[in-house]
Amino acid sequence: MSYDAVIIGAGSVGVPTAMVLAERGLKSLVIDKNASPGQGENKHAIGGVRATHSDPGKIMVGRRSLEILSTWEKRHGDPIEWLKGGYTFPLYREVDARLLKGLLPVQKSYGLNIDFIGPRQMRELVPGINLDGLLGGTFSPDDGSISPLLTINAFYRHAVERGARFRFQERVTGILTKDGRVSGVQTDRDRYEAPVVIDAAGPYSKDIGRMVGTELSVAPDAHEAAITEPVKPFFSCMVVDIRPGPDSKNYYFYQNRHGQVVFCITPDPPIFGTDKGATSTFLPQVCARMVTLLPRLKNLRVRRTWRGLYPMTPDGAPLVGWNRESKGLLHAAGMCGQGLMLGPGIAELIGRMVTGQTTEDDQVVLEEFSPDREFIGAEVLK
Ligand SMILES: Cc1cc2nc3c(=O)[nH]c(=O)nc-3n(C[C@H](O)[C@H](O)[C@H](O)COP(=O)(O)OP(=O)(O)OC[C@H]3O[C@@H](n4cnc5c(N)ncnc54)[C@H](O)[C@@H]3O)c2cc1C
Repeated sequence: MSYDAVIIGAGSVGVPTAMVLAERGLKSLVIDKNASPGQGENKHAIGGVRATHSDPGKIMVGRRSLEILSTWEKRHGDPIEWLKGGYTFPLYREVDARLLKGLLPVQKSYGLNIDFIGPRQMRELVPGINLDGLLGGTFSPDDGSISPLLTINAFYRHAVERGARFRFQERVTGILTKDGRVSGVQTDRDRYEAPVVIDAAGPYSKDIGRMVGTELSVAPDAHEAAITEPVKPFFSCMVVDIRPGPDSKNYYFYQNRHGQVVFCITPDPPIFGTDKGATSTFLPQVCARMVTLLPRLKNLRVRRTWRGLYPMTPDGAPLVGWNRESKGLLHAAGMCGQGLMLGPGIAELIGRMVTGQTTEDDQVVLEEFSPDREFIGAEVLK
Protein backbone atom coordinates (compact mmCIF):
# COMPACT_ATOMS: atom_id res chain seq x y z
CA MET A 1 0.00 0.00 0.00
CA SER A 2 1.34 3.47 -0.71
CA TYR A 3 0.72 6.72 1.17
CA ASP A 4 1.90 10.35 1.02
CA ALA A 5 3.26 9.97 4.56
CA VAL A 6 3.66 7.29 7.20
CA ILE A 7 3.64 8.48 10.83
CA ILE A 8 5.33 6.26 13.41
CA GLY A 9 3.44 6.67 16.69
CA ALA A 10 -0.18 7.48 17.57
CA GLY A 11 0.70 9.71 20.50
CA SER A 12 0.58 13.37 21.53
CA VAL A 13 2.38 14.37 18.31
CA GLY A 14 1.45 11.65 15.80
CA VAL A 15 -2.34 11.89 16.11
CA PRO A 16 -2.71 15.68 15.66
CA THR A 17 -0.17 15.40 12.83
CA ALA A 18 -2.40 12.84 11.09
CA MET A 19 -5.32 15.25 11.40
CA VAL A 20 -3.35 18.17 9.97
CA LEU A 21 -1.99 16.15 7.04
CA ALA A 22 -5.48 14.89 6.25
CA GLU A 23 -6.78 18.48 6.33
CA ARG A 24 -4.09 19.33 3.79
CA GLY A 25 -5.37 16.57 1.52
CA LEU A 26 -2.49 14.16 2.13
CA LYS A 27 -3.05 10.43 2.44
CA SER A 28 -1.36 9.35 5.65
CA LEU A 29 -1.02 6.18 7.68
CA VAL A 30 -0.27 6.13 11.42
CA ILE A 31 1.28 2.96 12.85
CA ASP A 32 1.42 2.23 16.58
CA LYS A 33 2.52 -0.85 18.48
CA ASN A 34 -0.15 -0.23 21.12
CA ALA A 35 -3.85 -1.06 20.84
CA SER A 36 -5.34 2.45 20.58
CA PRO A 37 -4.35 6.14 20.39
CA GLY A 38 -2.50 7.72 23.30
CA GLN A 39 -1.43 4.50 24.99
CA GLY A 40 2.27 5.47 24.96
CA GLU A 41 3.20 8.54 27.03
CA ASN A 42 0.22 10.71 26.10
CA LYS A 43 -1.95 9.06 28.76
CA HIS A 44 0.75 9.54 31.42
CA ALA A 45 0.69 13.33 31.12
CA ILE A 46 -1.16 15.10 33.93
CA GLY A 47 -2.80 17.56 31.53
CA GLY A 48 -0.93 20.87 31.90
CA VAL A 49 -0.99 23.22 28.90
CA ARG A 50 0.91 26.51 28.83
CA ALA A 51 2.40 28.93 26.34
CA THR A 52 4.53 30.65 28.98
CA HIS A 53 7.89 29.08 28.09
CA SER A 54 11.19 30.93 28.07
CA ASP A 55 12.58 30.36 24.55
CA PRO A 56 11.02 31.88 21.38
CA GLY A 57 10.45 28.58 19.51
CA LYS A 58 8.63 26.92 22.36
CA ILE A 59 6.67 30.10 23.09
CA MET A 60 5.44 30.29 19.48
CA VAL A 61 4.54 26.60 19.22
CA GLY A 62 3.06 26.59 22.73
CA ARG A 63 0.94 29.67 22.00
CA ARG A 64 -0.53 28.08 18.87
CA SER A 65 -1.22 24.81 20.72
CA LEU A 66 -2.92 26.73 23.49
CA GLU A 67 -5.13 28.51 20.94
CA ILE A 68 -6.11 25.18 19.39
CA LEU A 69 -6.79 23.42 22.69
CA SER A 70 -8.54 26.26 24.51
CA THR A 71 -11.00 26.78 21.64
CA TRP A 72 -11.44 23.12 20.69
CA GLU A 73 -14.69 22.51 22.57
CA LYS A 74 -16.31 25.63 21.07
CA ARG A 75 -15.12 24.87 17.55
CA HIS A 76 -15.75 21.12 17.43
CA GLY A 77 -18.10 20.33 20.32
CA ASP A 78 -15.98 17.48 21.72
CA PRO A 79 -15.42 17.69 25.46
CA ILE A 80 -11.69 17.71 26.27
CA GLU A 81 -12.06 19.14 29.80
CA TRP A 82 -10.27 22.40 29.01
CA LEU A 83 -9.93 24.35 32.24
CA LYS A 84 -8.54 27.88 32.02
CA GLY A 85 -7.01 27.92 35.47
CA GLY A 86 -3.66 29.49 34.60
CA TYR A 87 -0.18 28.55 35.78
CA THR A 88 1.49 29.96 38.86
CA PHE A 89 5.05 29.61 40.12
CA PRO A 90 5.03 30.57 43.84
CA LEU A 91 8.51 31.73 44.84
CA TYR A 92 10.29 31.61 48.17
CA ARG A 93 13.87 32.24 47.05
CA GLU A 94 15.26 35.54 45.75
CA VAL A 95 17.32 33.68 43.16
CA ASP A 96 14.16 32.14 41.63
CA ALA A 97 12.29 35.45 41.76
CA ARG A 98 15.13 37.18 39.90
CA LEU A 99 15.21 34.38 37.30
CA LEU A 100 11.49 34.40 36.55
CA LYS A 101 11.20 38.20 36.66
CA GLY A 102 14.05 38.29 34.15
CA LEU A 103 12.01 36.17 31.73
CA LEU A 104 8.94 38.40 31.81
CA PRO A 105 10.13 40.94 29.20
CA VAL A 106 10.79 38.18 26.62
CA GLN A 107 7.50 36.44 27.44
CA LYS A 108 5.57 39.73 27.19
CA SER A 109 7.30 40.66 23.94
CA TYR A 110 5.65 37.55 22.46
CA GLY A 111 2.27 38.75 23.72
CA LEU A 112 2.01 36.28 26.60
CA ASN A 113 -0.32 37.21 29.42
CA ILE A 114 1.94 36.75 32.45
CA ASP A 115 2.91 38.91 35.42
CA PHE A 116 4.44 38.91 38.84
CA ILE A 117 1.91 38.86 41.68
CA GLY A 118 2.44 39.51 45.39
CA PRO A 119 1.79 37.13 48.31
CA ARG A 120 -1.73 38.46 48.89
CA GLN A 121 -2.84 37.73 45.32
CA MET A 122 -1.09 34.37 45.51
CA ARG A 123 -3.15 33.53 48.60
CA GLU A 124 -6.36 34.31 46.72
CA LEU A 125 -5.24 32.10 43.84
CA VAL A 126 -4.12 29.19 46.01
CA PRO A 127 -6.09 29.47 49.26
CA GLY A 128 -4.16 28.09 52.20
CA ILE A 129 -0.72 28.38 50.57
CA ASN A 130 2.15 28.59 53.05
CA LEU A 131 2.87 32.32 53.47
CA ASP A 132 6.07 31.81 55.44
CA GLY A 133 8.79 33.43 53.27
CA LEU A 134 6.49 33.65 50.21
CA LEU A 135 7.78 36.40 47.91
CA GLY A 136 4.90 36.18 45.44
CA GLY A 137 5.31 34.55 42.06
CA THR A 138 4.36 34.57 38.41
CA PHE A 139 0.81 34.01 37.19
CA SER A 140 -0.29 33.41 33.60
CA PRO A 141 -4.12 33.28 33.62
CA ASP A 142 -4.56 32.10 30.01
CA ASP A 143 -2.78 28.76 30.50
CA GLY A 144 -4.72 25.74 31.71
CA SER A 145 -5.30 22.03 31.55
CA ILE A 146 -7.03 19.33 29.50
CA SER A 147 -7.75 15.63 29.72
CA PRO A 148 -4.98 13.93 27.70
CA LEU A 149 -7.10 10.92 26.71
CA LEU A 150 -10.24 12.86 25.78
CA THR A 151 -8.09 15.23 23.73
CA ILE A 152 -6.19 12.59 21.79
CA ASN A 153 -9.40 10.73 21.06
CA ALA A 154 -10.95 13.95 19.75
CA PHE A 155 -7.95 14.45 17.41
CA TYR A 156 -8.16 10.77 16.43
CA ARG A 157 -11.83 10.99 15.45
CA HIS A 158 -11.25 14.11 13.40
CA ALA A 159 -8.20 12.55 11.70
CA VAL A 160 -10.18 9.43 10.77
CA GLU A 161 -13.16 11.47 9.55
CA ARG A 162 -10.80 13.39 7.26
CA GLY A 163 -9.36 10.19 5.81
CA ALA A 164 -6.25 9.38 7.88
CA ARG A 165 -5.65 5.65 8.33
CA PHE A 166 -4.46 4.00 11.55
CA ARG A 167 -2.94 0.59 12.18
CA PHE A 168 -2.63 -0.50 15.81
CA GLN A 169 -0.77 -3.41 17.43
CA GLU A 170 1.80 -3.17 14.68
CA ARG A 171 5.45 -2.30 15.28
CA VAL A 172 7.71 -0.47 12.85
CA THR A 173 10.87 -2.56 12.58
CA GLY A 174 12.72 -0.78 9.77
CA ILE A 175 12.77 2.25 7.50
CA LEU A 176 13.00 1.46 3.81
CA THR A 177 15.38 3.57 1.73
CA LYS A 178 16.27 3.84 -1.93
CA ASP A 179 19.12 6.01 -3.28
CA GLY A 180 19.44 7.93 0.03
CA ARG A 181 15.69 8.67 0.25
CA VAL A 182 13.13 6.96 2.44
CA SER A 183 10.65 4.90 0.51
CA GLY A 184 8.47 3.56 3.34
CA VAL A 185 8.51 1.42 6.46
CA GLN A 186 8.71 -2.25 7.32
CA THR A 187 6.57 -3.47 10.22
CA ASP A 188 6.25 -6.82 11.97
CA ARG A 189 3.22 -7.45 9.71
CA ASP A 190 3.62 -5.66 6.41
CA ARG A 191 5.45 -3.02 4.43
CA TYR A 192 4.08 0.40 3.43
CA GLU A 193 5.43 2.77 0.79
CA ALA A 194 5.65 6.53 1.31
CA PRO A 195 8.07 9.30 0.27
CA VAL A 196 7.80 10.85 3.75
CA VAL A 197 8.15 9.05 7.09
CA ILE A 198 7.48 11.00 10.28
CA ASP A 199 9.14 9.82 13.47
CA ALA A 200 6.67 10.60 16.28
CA ALA A 201 7.80 7.64 18.39
CA GLY A 202 8.28 9.61 21.66
CA PRO A 203 10.76 7.96 24.04
CA TYR A 204 11.56 5.34 21.37
CA SER A 205 12.73 7.79 18.70
CA LYS A 206 16.35 6.80 19.29
CA ASP A 207 15.43 3.35 17.94
CA ILE A 208 13.86 4.96 14.86
CA GLY A 209 16.98 7.08 14.24
CA ARG A 210 19.18 4.01 14.55
CA MET A 211 17.16 2.33 11.77
CA VAL A 212 18.91 4.77 9.39
CA GLY A 213 22.18 5.07 11.32
CA THR A 214 21.37 8.37 13.12
CA GLU A 215 22.06 8.82 16.85
CA LEU A 216 19.26 11.12 18.07
CA SER A 217 19.83 12.96 21.36
CA VAL A 218 16.71 11.68 23.09
CA ALA A 219 16.39 9.28 26.01
CA PRO A 220 13.46 7.94 28.05
CA ASP A 221 13.42 9.52 31.53
CA ALA A 222 10.94 8.16 34.13
CA HIS A 223 8.51 10.41 36.03
CA GLU A 224 5.73 9.43 38.42
CA ALA A 225 2.34 11.02 38.91
CA ALA A 226 -0.81 10.55 40.97
CA ILE A 227 -4.47 11.56 41.21
CA THR A 228 -6.59 12.00 44.36
CA GLU A 229 -10.23 11.50 45.16
CA PRO A 230 -12.44 14.41 44.05
CA VAL A 231 -13.17 17.21 46.52
CA LYS A 232 -14.96 20.56 46.25
CA PRO A 233 -12.93 22.80 43.89
CA PHE A 234 -10.80 25.29 45.80
CA PHE A 235 -8.11 26.20 43.26
CA SER A 236 -7.79 25.69 39.52
CA CYS A 237 -4.33 26.84 38.47
CA MET A 238 -1.31 24.62 37.90
CA VAL A 239 1.02 25.28 40.84
CA VAL A 240 4.70 24.75 40.03
CA ASP A 241 7.22 24.76 42.87
CA ILE A 242 10.66 25.04 41.30
CA ARG A 243 12.68 24.75 44.52
CA PRO A 244 14.88 21.68 44.74
CA GLY A 245 13.97 19.11 47.41
CA PRO A 246 15.30 15.76 48.60
CA ASP A 247 16.18 13.71 45.47
CA SER A 248 13.93 15.92 43.38
CA LYS A 249 13.69 19.14 41.40
CA ASN A 250 10.34 20.78 40.71
CA TYR A 251 6.89 19.31 41.29
CA TYR A 252 3.55 20.56 40.00
CA PHE A 253 -0.13 20.02 40.69
CA TYR A 254 -3.63 21.34 39.95
CA GLN A 255 -7.26 20.48 40.65
CA ASN A 256 -9.06 19.20 37.56
CA ARG A 257 -12.65 19.77 36.46
CA HIS A 258 -13.78 16.80 38.62
CA GLY A 259 -12.18 18.23 41.77
CA GLN A 260 -9.31 15.72 41.75
CA VAL A 261 -5.80 16.94 42.50
CA VAL A 262 -3.31 15.64 39.93
CA PHE A 263 0.43 15.91 40.56
CA CYS A 264 3.91 14.79 39.59
CA ILE A 265 7.55 15.43 40.43
CA THR A 266 10.90 15.60 38.64
CA PRO A 267 13.43 13.18 40.16
CA ASP A 268 17.01 14.37 40.71
CA PRO A 269 19.18 12.78 39.46
CA PRO A 270 17.01 11.75 36.49
CA ILE A 271 16.02 8.09 36.23
CA PHE A 272 16.80 7.06 32.66
CA GLY A 273 15.37 3.85 31.18
CA THR A 274 12.02 2.44 30.16
CA ASP A 275 10.92 0.89 33.48
CA LYS A 276 7.34 2.02 34.14
CA GLY A 277 6.89 0.21 37.46
CA ALA A 278 5.57 2.60 40.14
CA THR A 279 7.87 3.03 43.18
CA SER A 280 7.16 3.31 46.92
CA THR A 281 9.42 6.37 47.20
CA PHE A 282 7.37 8.69 44.97
CA LEU A 283 4.31 9.39 47.16
CA PRO A 284 6.12 10.09 50.46
CA GLN A 285 8.58 12.29 48.57
CA VAL A 286 6.09 14.42 46.65
CA CYS A 287 3.37 14.53 49.34
CA ALA A 288 5.78 15.85 51.99
CA ARG A 289 6.67 18.72 49.68
CA MET A 290 3.09 19.44 48.61
CA VAL A 291 1.73 19.46 52.15
CA THR A 292 4.45 21.88 53.28
CA LEU A 293 3.47 24.22 50.44
CA LEU A 294 -0.29 23.79 50.82
CA PRO A 295 -1.07 22.20 54.23
CA ARG A 296 -4.79 21.77 53.53
CA LEU A 297 -3.97 19.00 51.03
CA LYS A 298 -3.03 16.72 53.91
CA ASN A 299 -6.42 15.06 54.26
CA LEU A 300 -6.76 14.15 50.59
CA ARG A 301 -6.65 10.46 49.69
CA VAL A 302 -4.64 9.37 46.67
CA ARG A 303 -6.56 7.10 44.31
CA ARG A 304 -3.94 6.01 41.83
CA THR A 305 -0.29 6.49 40.92
CA TRP A 306 1.50 5.79 37.64
CA ARG A 307 4.89 6.14 36.07
CA GLY A 308 5.64 7.25 32.53
CA LEU A 309 8.52 8.44 30.40
CA TYR A 310 9.58 11.89 29.23
CA PRO A 311 11.26 11.68 25.79
CA MET A 312 14.12 13.78 27.19
CA THR A 313 16.70 15.85 25.30
CA PRO A 314 19.86 17.34 26.83
CA ASP A 315 18.55 20.94 26.77
CA GLY A 316 14.82 20.37 27.30
CA ALA A 317 13.75 21.48 23.81
CA PRO A 318 12.16 19.16 21.20
CA LEU A 319 13.90 17.67 18.16
CA VAL A 320 12.03 18.63 15.02
CA GLY A 321 13.65 18.52 11.60
CA TRP A 322 14.44 16.54 8.48
CA ASN A 323 17.03 13.79 8.87
CA ARG A 324 20.23 14.98 7.22
CA GLU A 325 21.25 11.66 5.66
CA SER A 326 17.93 9.97 4.86
CA LYS A 327 15.88 12.40 2.80
CA GLY A 328 12.19 12.24 3.55
CA LEU A 329 12.57 11.19 7.21
CA LEU A 330 11.20 13.89 9.51
CA HIS A 331 11.88 13.71 13.24
CA ALA A 332 9.21 15.10 15.59
CA ALA A 333 10.70 13.76 18.77
CA GLY A 334 12.12 14.71 22.18
CA MET A 335 9.02 16.47 23.54
CA CYS A 336 10.36 16.11 27.12
CA GLY A 337 7.67 16.94 29.71
CA GLN A 338 5.68 19.03 27.23
CA GLY A 339 4.48 16.87 24.36
CA LEU A 340 0.84 17.28 25.24
CA MET A 341 1.02 21.07 25.27
CA LEU A 342 3.26 21.31 22.19
CA GLY A 343 1.72 18.52 20.08
CA PRO A 344 -1.00 20.46 18.20
CA GLY A 345 1.38 23.32 17.29
CA ILE A 346 4.11 20.88 16.24
CA ALA A 347 1.54 19.05 14.08
CA GLU A 348 0.75 22.25 12.16
CA LEU A 349 4.46 22.96 11.76
CA ILE A 350 4.95 19.47 10.31
CA GLY A 351 2.04 20.07 7.94
CA ARG A 352 3.84 23.16 6.61
CA MET A 353 7.19 21.33 6.42
CA VAL A 354 5.77 18.41 4.46
CA THR A 355 4.00 20.69 1.98
CA GLY A 356 6.95 23.11 1.67
CA GLN A 357 5.06 26.07 3.17
CA THR A 358 7.13 27.02 6.20
CA THR A 359 7.06 30.64 7.37
CA GLU A 360 9.76 32.96 8.78
CA ASP A 361 8.58 32.17 12.32
CA ASP A 362 8.86 28.46 11.51
CA GLN A 363 12.54 28.98 10.64
CA VAL A 364 13.13 30.41 14.15
CA VAL A 365 11.39 27.41 15.67
CA LEU A 366 13.23 24.91 13.47
CA GLU A 367 16.60 26.38 14.34
CA GLU A 368 15.82 26.09 18.06
CA PHE A 369 14.47 22.53 17.68
CA SER A 370 17.09 21.29 15.18
CA PRO A 371 18.07 17.64 15.88
CA ASP A 372 21.60 18.63 14.76
CA ARG A 373 22.06 21.51 17.23
CA GLU A 374 24.95 21.69 19.70
CA PHE A 375 22.94 21.31 22.96
CA ILE A 376 25.04 23.89 24.75
CA GLY A 377 22.34 25.71 26.73
CA ALA A 378 19.30 24.53 28.66
CA GLU A 379 15.87 26.12 28.65
CA VAL A 380 15.14 27.87 31.94
CA LEU A 381 11.61 26.49 32.26
CA LYS A 382 12.30 23.00 30.91
C1 LIG B 1 4.19 11.82 34.74
C2 LIG B 1 4.16 12.64 33.49
C3 LIG B 1 3.48 13.86 33.48
C4 LIG B 1 3.45 14.63 32.32
N1 LIG B 1 2.71 15.78 32.32
C5 LIG B 1 2.65 16.52 31.19
C6 LIG B 1 1.86 17.70 31.14
O1 LIG B 1 1.21 18.09 32.12
N2 LIG B 1 1.83 18.40 29.98
C7 LIG B 1 2.52 18.02 28.86
O2 LIG B 1 2.49 18.71 27.85
N3 LIG B 1 3.25 16.88 28.87
C8 LIG B 1 3.34 16.13 30.00
N4 LIG B 1 4.08 14.98 30.01
C9 LIG B 1 4.90 14.65 28.83
C10 LIG B 1 4.08 14.04 27.72
O3 LIG B 1 3.38 12.92 28.20
C11 LIG B 1 5.03 13.62 26.58
O4 LIG B 1 5.91 14.67 26.26
C12 LIG B 1 4.25 13.30 25.32
O5 LIG B 1 3.23 12.36 25.57
C13 LIG B 1 5.18 12.78 24.23
O6 LIG B 1 4.45 12.69 23.05
P1 LIG B 1 4.95 11.81 21.82
O7 LIG B 1 3.91 11.85 20.80
O8 LIG B 1 6.33 12.25 21.49
O9 LIG B 1 5.10 10.36 22.45
P2 LIG B 1 3.93 9.31 22.79
O10 LIG B 1 2.67 10.02 23.18
O11 LIG B 1 4.52 8.33 23.73
O12 LIG B 1 3.67 8.62 21.38
C14 LIG B 1 4.65 7.83 20.78
C15 LIG B 1 3.97 6.58 20.23
O13 LIG B 1 4.91 5.90 19.38
C16 LIG B 1 4.65 4.52 19.50
N5 LIG B 1 5.86 3.81 19.02
C17 LIG B 1 7.13 3.99 19.43
N6 LIG B 1 7.95 3.20 18.72
C18 LIG B 1 7.18 2.52 17.83
C19 LIG B 1 7.45 1.56 16.82
N7 LIG B 1 8.70 1.12 16.56
N8 LIG B 1 6.42 1.07 16.11
C20 LIG B 1 5.14 1.48 16.33
N9 LIG B 1 4.83 2.39 17.29
C21 LIG B 1 5.84 2.90 18.02
C22 LIG B 1 4.36 4.34 20.99
O14 LIG B 1 3.62 3.15 21.20
C23 LIG B 1 3.57 5.60 21.31
O15 LIG B 1 2.17 5.40 21.26
C24 LIG B 1 4.11 14.18 31.15
C25 LIG B 1 4.75 12.93 31.15
C26 LIG B 1 4.77 12.17 32.30
C27 LIG B 1 5.48 10.85 32.27
